[in-house]
Amino acid sequence: MADPDCIFCKIVAGELPATIVDEDERTIAFMDIAPATRGHALVIPRTHSRDLLDASPEDFAATALAARRLAGRAKERLGADGVNLLNSCGRAAWQTVFHLHIHVIPRYRDDPLRLPWVPSEGDPLEIAAAAQELAAG
Ligand code: AMP
Ligand code: ZN
Repeated sequence: MADPDCIFCKIVAGELPATIVDEDERTIAFMDIAPATRGHALVIPRTHSRDLLDASPEDFAATALAARRLAGRAKERLGADGVNLLNSCGRAAWQTVFHLHIHVIPRYRDDPLRLPWVPSEGDPLEIAAAAQELAAG
């Protein structure tokens, strides 16, 4: 179901312009209007879902596969040296548009993007405690 307030649903419906670079039965991919690097695109399911956890397994799988397809093309056609796939799930995780999307961000050896955190050694007890809460079963 389309959400009348969702800008990505409007792109799917052709009511908002977008530069579409790929599509299949379940997904479309279009250029991000504020690209992090050259070729930055977004892949979305045609059916509205708020985020990663709200999407059907089939839509999520199709979106992930379409993102991988585009990642391959970014390397072949744009000469990307690598690719980041990024998904933000929830406001706390930087999500700003609440229709599931995977960013496909081509990376170039000398591009200006940097990790948003500074990796430093974690507390083993805290890692173990979090693991216990996360573990299946
Ligand atoms: P996020 O912050 O992960 O929810 O990402 C939302 C992304 O959508 C941002 O990178 C925006 O630049 C991009 N965006 C927002 N509106 C549009 C639009 N109309 N067409 C293309 N990209 C958009
Ligand atoms: Zn939507």
